[in-house]
Amino acid sequence: MTQHADDPELETAYNEYYANVYAAVEDMQFAYRKKIMESECCKDLDDHEFGHLKQSFENAIALFREANIPLMIEESELANRYGSIVSKMSVMFEGEQRTPAQLGVFLKDADREKREAAYRARYQLYLDQAPELDQLYDDLLKIRHKIALNAGFANYRDFKHQEMGRFSYTPEDIYEFHRAVELELMPFVKELDEQRRQSLNLSSLRPWDTQVDLDGRNLKPFETTDEFIHKAIDVLDKVHPPYAMQLAMMNNSGMLDLENRKGKAPGGYNTGINALASSFIFMNHVKLQRDVVTLIHESGHAMHSAATKDIKYFPYLETPSEVAELASMTMELLSMDYWDIYYPDPIDLKKAKREQLEGTLSFLPWCMTVDAFQHWVYLNPQQTAKERGEAYLKISDPFRSIVDFTGLELWRPHAWKMQLHIYEVPFYYIEYGMAQLGALSIYKNYRENKAKALEQYQEFLSLGYSKPVNELYKVAGIDFDFSAKHIRELVDFVKQELAAIDKD
Ligand SMILES: [Zn+2]
Repeated sequence: MTQHADDPELETAYNEYYANVYAAVEDMQFAYRKKIMESECCKDLDDHEFGHLKQSFENAIALFREANIPLMIEESELANRYGSIVSKMSVMFEGEQRTPAQLGVFLKDADREKREAAYRARYQLYLDQAPELDQLYDDLLKIRHKIALNAGFANYRDFKHQEMGRFSYTPEDIYEFHRAVELELMPFVKELDEQRRQSLNLSSLRPWDTQVDLDGRNLKPFETTDEFIHKAIDVLDKVHPPYAMQLAMMNNSGMLDLENRKGKAPGGYNTGINALASSFIFMNHVKLQRDVVTLIHESGHAMHSAATKDIKYFPYLETPSEVAELASMTMELLSMDYWDIYYPDPIDLKKAKREQLEGTLSFLPWCMTVDAFQHWVYLNPQQTAKERGEAYLKISDPFRSIVDFTGLELWRPHAWKMQLHIYEVPFYYIEYGMAQLGALSIYKNYRENKAKALEQYQEFLSLGYSKPVNELYKVAGIDFDFSAKHIRELVDFVKQELAAIDKD
C-alpha cells in the first residue's frame, strides 16, 4: 500500500485486512491473555523471564474495551488518508512535476531565490489541502478522545501514555525534558544558527536558509540506487560484518524499495517480516546525505529484528520506540567513521560527520515542539482549527531559534501538518529524542572503548523487549535519562567532537 499509495484498491485491501483480520483478533488476544493471567500456573512462571510479559499483559487487559475495536479500525482508516492526501501532492517546479519531498531537495540549492521559491511551493501544497487536513485531524481527535473515555481515562494523552507502556516515566517527566532542551540546548542551537547566518552573510536567517551548504559544496553520496545500497553494505561490513550480510540478503530478496517517486507514500520505515526472519525497508531517497543516514537508520531496525530471531515470545519482539529507535539511531553514529565509502574526499567526509553530529542535537527542538503540541491538542479536545494553529505558534516559539518567519504568517500555524506522525502515530515522536540522547551516550562509550560499546549494543539488540526500557538501556551501557544535567553533558560532548573534527 505504501509503495502504491495512489492505488485505491490497495488501500481498500489494507483496510479490509486491518478490520477483518488484525482488529478482529484483538478480542481473542484479550481473552487469551486474560486466561493466562488467571491461570493457576501463571504464579509459577519465573519472574526473571516472564515478569515483563506479565506486566505488559496486565496493562493490555486493563486497557482493553470491546467497544474500542470498531473505533480503532475507523482511526486506522482515517490515519491512512493522510498518506494518500500527501501522495497526490505535486507541482510544476523547475520544469518538472515535483512531490513535496523532491521540492525539499531545492532547500540545499546555492541559489537563495530558488530555495525560497521551493520552500513556498512546498508549503503551498499543504496550504491548498489545509481545510481537508484540518477536517481529517478533527475527525481523528474525536475518535481518539472517545477511545480514551471508553477506557476510563479523562483524555487521550493519559490513555496513550499507558497504552504505549511508558512505565519508566510520567507525562510530567516529559515536560521536564521539553524545559531541559529549552534551557540547556537552545543557546547552542542559536549559536550554530548565528554562525550559519554569518557564514552566509545574511542580515537575517530565513527558513529556506537552514539547510543550504555553507561552503557551497553539495554532498553527493551516490548516483544510482544500486550504488547507494552497495555502499551501505560496505559501511555496515566495517561496523560489524553480520550486519552487512543481513542487508545484502534483504537486497537479494527484493526487500528494499528506496527511491522517491510519485504515488509512493511519504516517509521511511523498516518492518520485520517474522515468517521470513527478514525485514523490508521502505524510503524515498533523493540522492542526499540524509538518505544515507535514513538507510543506515532503517538498517539498524533491521539488525534489531535479526538479533531477536531466537526470542520465543511474540510480545518480546514488539519493541516500543524508546527501544527501537535506540537501535537505529545508534547505528547512524556507529557507522559514521566509515562514511569515507560514500565520501572519498576528506573535506566531504568531515562535512557529513559535522552535519550528523550537529543534527543529533538540532533535531531536538523540533522533536519537543511536535510532542508539546500533541500534549496540548489532546488535553484540549474541544479546540477549533484556528485555536490549534494559535497554540502551535505559542508552543513552537521557544524552540524556533533565530529563524525569521516574517511574511509567513499565513503558513506558520499550519507547519505541523507536514509531520506525518502527528496524524498517523500520535505521541510517537518524543521517543526519537529520548533515543537520540541514548544513542549519543552509546557513541560516547564507543569513543572510549569500541569493542566494549559494540558488545553492549549487540547484547541490547538481542534482548528485544524482554525487559523494561530503563533496564534495556542499562544493558546497552547507558542511563535512561533526559534530565537537564544529562543533556548538558551531551551538549558538551558534541561540542568536543565537533572541535575534534575541525582539527583533523
Ligand atoms: Zn526509526
